[in-house]
Amino acid sequence: MKMNKGRLIVFSAPSGCGKGTMLAEILKNERFRCSVSATTRSPREGELDGINYHFLTREDFERHIAAGEFLEYAEYCKNFYGTLVSEVDSYLEKGINVILEIEVQGAMKIKQKRPDAIFVFIAPPSIGELTRRLRKRGTESDEVIAERVSQAAGEIAMAEKYDYVIVNDALEDAVSDFFAVIRAEELKAVCSGEIINEVLKNA
Ligand code: ADP
Ligand code: 5GP
Repeated sequence: MKMNKGRLIVFSAPSGCGKGTMLAEILKNERFRCSVSATTRSPREGELDGINYHFLTREDFERHIAAGEFLEYAEYCKNFYGTLVSEVDSYLEKGINVILEIEVQGAMKIKQKRPDAIFVFIAPPSIGELTRRLRKRGTESDEVIAERVSQAAGEIAMAEKYDYVIVNDALEDAVSDFFAVIRAEELKAVCSGEIINEVLKNA
């Protein structure tokens, strides 16, 4: 049977909600790929260039903006983050679902450019639990944690602009909710044109 194109999935959550942890589980499924964003922030311990992010200088990032190579970009906590077009379209053509792990300003830009994308917001069980997770991760100073937690409340208020909200309380449940959302989207009648044609063609 002919394969449908992959779906573009916008996956947002305030820093520390567990996006990275959820994605590690989701990406075990080979039908999913995470776009590697470009950023001007410094790598955290263990992060690799080209794997976690394309780590760029501000000058290089601005050169990519000028060349029109970003599908979207945004400034978040004093650093630039952006999605390169080259990270998305060729994979969708191959039937792979491409996940953009991006913050809300960038997500809203995608909503205008790619209205067929699936918008999923990951929320923490509470602001208190979000703070505990960021402290436990231990990758940011207290000052940066405070900045990210205060940013989080504003971002959570934007959740209603998304198609789906998943609370990452128990990890396993959150991951299974994600796959349920994508499966339901794939089965929508409006996305089934090619499949219906195949069914009618084959006697
Ligand atoms: P993000 O990618 O959204 O910034 P991480 O995936 O790095 O967040 O998770 C932040 C911290 O919370 C990590 O220490 C991670 O182990 C922990 N964490 C993630 N999901 C859960 C969960 N469901 N329950 C408890 N801790 C979690
Ligand atoms: P972090 O510094 O914790 O890796 O990411 C900070 C925020 O930037 C997160 O909310 C993350 O989703 C977002 N982000 C990562 N890549 C991109 C991107 O390409 N574009 C946009 N708009 N946001 C991104």
